[in-house]
Amino acid sequence: MSTNAELYERARALIPGGVNSPVRAFGAVGGTPKFLTRGEGAYIVDEEGARYLDMMCSWGPLILGHCHPEVIEVIQNKAALGTTFGAPCRAEVELAEAVVGAYPGLEQVRFVSSGSEATMSAIRLARGATGRDLIVKFSGCYHGHADHLLVAAGSGLVTAGQPSSAGVPKAFAALTIVLPLNDEEKLKALFAAQGDRIAAVIIEPIPANNGLLLQHKEFLLTLRKVTRDSGTLLIFDEVISGFRVAKGGAAEYYGITPDLATFGKIIGGGLPVGAYGGSKHLMSHIAPEGPVYQAGTLSGNPVAMAAGLATMRILDREKAWTKLEELGALLEKEVGAALADVSTPWKVIRVGSIVWLSFQAGEAPRSAEVLDQNVGARFAPLFHAMLDRGVYLPPSAFEVMFLSLAHTPEDISKFAKALRESILATAA
Ligand SMILES: *Cc1c(COP(=O)(O)O)cnc(C)c1O
Repeated sequence: MSTNAELYERARALIPGGVNSPVRAFGAVGGTPKFLTRGEGAYIVDEEGARYLDMMCSWGPLILGHCHPEVIEVIQNKAALGTTFGAPCRAEVELAEAVVGAYPGLEQVRFVSSGSEATMSAIRLARGATGRDLIVKFSGCYHGHADHLLVAAGSGLVTAGQPSSAGVPKAFAALTIVLPLNDEEKLKALFAAQGDRIAAVIIEPIPANNGLLLQHKEFLLTLRKVTRDSGTLLIFDEVISGFRVAKGGAAEYYGITPDLATFGKIIGGGLPVGAYGGSKHLMSHIAPEGPVYQAGTLSGNPVAMAAGLATMRILDREKAWTKLEELGALLEKEVGAALADVSTPWKVIRVGSIVWLSFQAGEAPRSAEVLDQNVGARFAPLFHAMLDRGVYLPPSAFEVMFLSLAHTPEDISKFAKALRESILATAA
């Protein structure tokens, strides 16, 4: 039998770091990554037969849990009819209707194959539509790995982008301005100085890639206002929050409509899909109607579209967002009870089924600048203590957990109990 360690060794010889996406390598927590063979509802099984409660849910797509029977049936039936055509198919029209019908202000969407592709294309569209080059992002927000979005903040005031990856030209990164989250003054100052040169601001309205840095609604309203006033397009990156926090994503949750929105994760029903969309007028800039080019061999893939559509239908039918909110509230309550007498600082920060366990003392952080990086070291032993108790957390202190409709109240209790034991076992 192949063990995790054996497979990891073979993988490392062939694939950089042994993984096809960096954080899977357990770099922040140490140890050997688990090679997974099977998912069953809220559980995953590795090559050694170990079974874990899955609190990661593939980083967000699995809002129904693993292998929902209806989704699997749709995938099997569709695949038997042909896995790709490179020509239009009914499923992409139906999924487009579902996405456009769900999201505030959306009139058209274009499907791509990943969230990175969606944000990259939305930025290109924004530049093409406005004729401006500058874009603004917020430090701590992740938008996939397109060059102009792989830019982090330096400290200090408005920072001209420094690439946070080798291979991104400085000249290119200089077109990305990085602002801190939760800072209206810097936002207003930037727009007063050069708002008319900025093509777009891209933000995760519910920033969930660096802990969960919840913004005040007022900050998002100010962002909406300054962008509108200066002809800058506001892009909500809803790759995590879309169909997760509400049917209409963060736009519905906050009652704020962006000019463009990007999607991924959930809309593929577990297969590789991304999408970006906006008003008909804006989307008319995209080829073949307009001059902004964007294409994809596997875009609108029939199997992936059908899996996404099946997922949307189930979410609607099951009143998913109400149930997930209840489950999230239960988790908060159970963790609260389990950790009531624990002396380590902890906090559950949560929107619906997006949950972050913060071990930082003091107020809930709202920007990357105030994150305490030291908690990372304390997280590693906790992560392994949870694995020992059959619970799989995302392998970093700054990644959020996701609940699915497959998680039960018993799973939540198991999680809370394991968390208490693990914190007590690893407290210095
Ligand atoms: C995951 C993610 C992306 C990138 O999506 P991929 O499918 O991994 O390329 C973009 N934006 C946000 C907010 C994400 O969480």
